[in-house]
Amino acid sequence: MAKTALVTGAGRGIGAGIVEKLASEKWNVAVCDLKSVEEGNAQCAELARKYGVEARYYRADISSASDRENLVKSVAADFGALDALVNNAGVAPKVRADILEMTEESFDFVVGVNLKGTFFLSQAVGRYFAERKAGGVIVNIGSCSATVASISRGEYCMSKAGVAMITKLFAVRMAECGVNVYEIRPGVISTPMTSVVKAKYDKLIAEGLTLQPRWGYPEDIAKAVAMLVRGDLGYSTGQVINVGGGMDIARL
Ligand code: NAP
Repeated sequence: MAKTALVTGAGRGIGAGIVEKLASEKWNVAVCDLKSVEEGNAQCAELARKYGVEARYYRADISSASDRENLVKSVAADFGALDALVNNAGVAPKVRADILEMTEESFDFVVGVNLKGTFFLSQAVGRYFAERKAGGVIVNIGSCSATVASISRGEYCMSKAGVAMITKLFAVRMAECGVNVYEIRPGVISTPMTSVVKAKYDKLIAEGLTLQPRWGYPEDIAKAVAMLVRGDLGYSTGQVINVGGGMDIARL
């Protein structure tokens, strides 16, 4: 029987690449995003048509407690079961500001989605996995910003450093339930999120930021997610997979 994956922030960018790849591997997909129900339903109809899987759209904000609760209940009921959670939804600060100027509003927005939303959605799905007693997989899309300091978006870096600890905490807690937990740490990926800083990263990549001299693409991340939810790294949990063209290697 086909398995079901819930992917957050799957309306565009990396998340859209992930649902496309999983659907191509015959996963049923629950697509969570903030875009309109019409747009989400159209995306799901296209996935179902192309790959012959079940694809359903859920307009839900992962920073809202009631949305998270409804999301997990609805997905489990609509598909009959949930086998994998991919915590991909994330936001950058609306305005890049030096940490001496950063506002509490921006801190709350970024941390509320990236850290709090990811933690409490993992908690809700973790409870579901524990009750169902059929294993499961959680993949967190973190960031190289978990370890690389960017003083113009400190709230993002702090939130992703926190996501790294969410991965460890859930790996430890969920091991007895047969649930593996991983973090994929993308480098610089071409998506709407990074389109506003394209010129900056074009230059850095040309100057050698990445060992592999190109931008990453959503499918680079999607392939790594597919490998993990498939269970190819089954005797491994709580681990970080860097997908950034080698940019994580410190060099002199
Ligand atoms: P993106 O292009 O901005 O797409 C993110 C998607 O998530 C959007 O559709 C967005 O909806 C949705 N979303 C935002 N807040 C949400 C919420 N509260 N609840 C549900 N959905 C929400 O970003 P991306 O580049 O694909 O990034 C995906 C993930 O990868 C993020 O966690 C990001 O931090 C991480 N990442 C990206 C890069 C990169 O270079 N692109 C590098 C490292 C890590 P709206 O459009 O309505 O906001």
